Amino acid sequence: MQNGFRDHLKDKKRIVIKIGTSSLTHKETNYLNLRVIESLARVLTDLRNRGIDVALVSSGAIAVGRQSMHIDRRPATVAEKQALAAVGQAQLIMAYERVFSMYNQDIAQILITKYTFLNDMNRENALNTFHELFAMNVVPVINENDTVATHEIEFGDNDRLGAIVAALTGADLLILLTDTDGLYTADPSVDPDSARIPEVSYIDDQIMSLATGTNSDVGTGGMAAKLFAAQMAAAAGADVVIAKGDDPLNIHRILDGEDIGTMIMAHKNPEFDLKKYIQEY
Ligand code: GLU
Repeated sequence: MQNGFRDHLKDKKRIVIKIGTSSLTHKETNYLNLRVIESLARVLTDLRNRGIDVALVSSGAIAVGRQSMHIDRRPATVAEKQALAAVGQAQLIMAYERVFSMYNQDIAQILITKYTFLNDMNRENALNTFHELFAMNVVPVINENDTVATHEIEFGDNDRLGAIVAALTGADLLILLTDTDGLYTADPSVDPDSARIPEVSYIDDQIMSLATGTNSDVGTGGMAAKLFAAQMAAAAGADVVIAKGDDPLNIHRILDGEDIGTMIMAHKNPEFDLKKYIQEY
């Protein structure tokens, strides 16, 4: 189905895509969902082939580390979580290398913490690196540097990291891929009458109040985190689409203007200041 609100999505020039652990791994085993990551590599390479700058914010390090170390519960301590992330991140990036290389698409690993953005020189360096990578036709694959990010300096979740990367790089679209179809009028798992909200022009308190009870076991996001992230990205000037990540072809569908997921419209705030935003939220 076509929808007039979305006609401009086909003209996007720089897209940040965030994919969550729940889309990247099989929840029964924590093993990587190869169908998803292979399809993701193909779709993102095709966007690059269209001349669109693409950055991928990927979670999954801790889940993959858990699977590798045979730990079938959430990590008990921060140190354990960090160790699992260190194991898992290496395997995750290797998996991305393998699938992207099928299409001769180069990727780069970028691991960042909140300090990267709060420190003016680090932020500038990160931005310059992104610009070089886009110019070199490379797809940066970004995650939080979990090994050094203690609680005080965590972003909180990768949805927010996706929004920050979108704001930093001046992206015009942020796609948050998750395990739900978008924002609903009520929790669809308990309310059969709930309906997907196709478009949100502004995230106000009423919209925010809809984001309840959608946390899944493996990721840290949940719908509230997605709406906070969307609020930031929209203020920085990017449209945001929250959509289901089990089929990466949804990314093409979004750019084709199909009515899937929930689109939150950009409303650029000329006073948007990334550093201030990170400090305050
Ligand atoms: N950095 C975490 C990981 O790779 C994910 C955090 C999140 O999904 O919000 O496992």
